[in-house]
Amino acid sequence: MKYQFKQDKLKILFVSESSYAGNTGFANYYKNLISRVHESGKYRCAEFASFAGINDPRDEQVKHRFYANEVAPNDPRHAQFQSNELNKLGLWRYEKVLLDFMPDVTIELRDCTMYSYQDFSHLRKYVYWIQAPAIDSGPQINAWLDCYLSADAILPYTDYGKKVLEEELHGRAKVFKVAYPGADYKTFFPITNKVGLRQKYGIDPNINIVGFCARNQIRKLFPNLMEAFRKFLDTQLHQQDYYLYLNTTHPDLKPWNFSKILVEMGLTNNVLFSYICTKCQQFFPNKWNDVNTKCRFCGELAIMPRISYMPTPQHLNEIYNLFDVYVQYANAGGAEFPLIEAAAAGTPVMAIDYAGMGSIVHRLGGVPLKTYCLSKDINTEADRAIPNNEHLVEELKRFFSRPKQINIRNGFKTHEVCLKKFSWDVNADIFMECIDNIQFTGRQGKWGLQEDYVPQQVPDNSKLSDYINQLIDLGLQEPRLKNTLFIDDLIKKCEIGIYTNGNGIMNTDKNYAQTVLVNLINQKIAAELIRKGSPLDYEDFMMYAETKELVNL
Ligand SMILES: [Zn+2]
Repeated sequence: MKYQFKQDKLKILFVSESSYAGNTGFANYYKNLISRVHESGKYRCAEFASFAGINDPRDEQVKHRFYANEVAPNDPRHAQFQSNELNKLGLWRYEKVLLDFMPDVTIELRDCTMYSYQDFSHLRKYVYWIQAPAIDSGPQINAWLDCYLSADAILPYTDYGKKVLEEELHGRAKVFKVAYPGADYKTFFPITNKVGLRQKYGIDPNINIVGFCARNQIRKLFPNLMEAFRKFLDTQLHQQDYYLYLNTTHPDLKPWNFSKILVEMGLTNNVLFSYICTKCQQFFPNKWNDVNTKCRFCGELAIMPRISYMPTPQHLNEIYNLFDVYVQYANAGGAEFPLIEAAAAGTPVMAIDYAGMGSIVHRLGGVPLKTYCLSKDINTEADRAIPNNEHLVEELKRFFSRPKQINIRNGFKTHEVCLKKFSWDVNADIFMECIDNIQFTGRQGKWGLQEDYVPQQVPDNSKLSDYINQLIDLGLQEPRLKNTLFIDDLIKKCEIGIYTNGNGIMNTDKNYAQTVLVNLINQKIAAELIRKGSPLDYEDFMMYAETKELVNL
């Protein structure tokens, strides 16, 4: 017999990138928010986590109901899991999780492209949907704007995100408040003995270090930063006293070619990278030696960080503390956690004055770096910042012309500002304020509301758009979907007969549209039976979720 949970608490489902597994900003945000909302004791919380399987020892710290999205490669369900790119982001189990937990509220913190599939579920109407999209540039794709309009409340990461939503949706976005992310101040703090820290890593306490921490990916402007640093060095008499420290991943999916850029810029002797020992796990700064080098501490193999092998948070704090100044050089960005963490660690900060990092550097009282112009990106159709390197050179000259002690003192001030303005507690309070002020409308929270759903047959004898709209009206009976971009796009694809999906060019016809709609109808038929009391096909991940909740009651 199933355990009967008390029904007196609001049920909240966080649809997430696993809150324990990730080295990503999203995972960090989920971990901090879910733990606080759950520990408030006011709600019944569940997490539906992409990039997580069941029985992972790392989820021991998870104290709430926990639905895992992934299955192992030897699982009979793995082929289905791999059959659609969106399944990795939760599509294939989303409705099962909704039907098992029947939440009142769902919360999303990722990029819209990762979660917009939730908008097309016929179960959408039973939940109050809070979206906190990481808006990293503008203008936003029309399909995403459609999805934001569907949100019942939006809590953008930054003032920039709020501005984009308000401007592009012409005041129709239901922005509750901006909820800036926080920092973990137990991990990221100023290390007062800077001389001792540098000696530990064999770095001369008198040299000057400009630092940047980021994945090795297109959006991060390593070549521009290196070029600006070269120009800055050319203004200095004692070039050997200045280093650029890049704490980055290599190899990565589409990495910058550091070997080539370092030679082109004549920077081989002035750039440091992090390496981590595979034996003693210690990190240390080193000049470029490609992927592998010898550990400075134990002599064994040391490698550059990669997404599966990153410096520990404690080491990351030491890395930030080795820098004299932190520079965020990216062409777009939603929140940019390293920028906040560097400030928490007491390092003065500079960042390109665009998108989320622009909002954050202003809020921290750091140096906003001018852009040269904005340029369109083919993948996102949004604007990307082209940095004004001359401005960074001028700011670095100004920075290093000040006595070191003044810069260190300013770093402590940056830490103080960060403490006040970037707090996970405040962030969670804003979410809970939003939740506590919810006014449900329509069917939200009414999972038990019974309706007769009998899909009607639609004759296939009209033109494509009429046929699709009839399938929505009479078959699916979800008129809300008509005239959405999802459906407009489907009709357009089939009328033209061809479309590109990023991986290749695909042929489409009326049958393709029909299959999409018939699948939605079948899903609805199955879900309605379950809402009426038929048992849900109880899978291992649901049992696991329930056990996780029960053992932590
Ligand atoms: Zn070692």
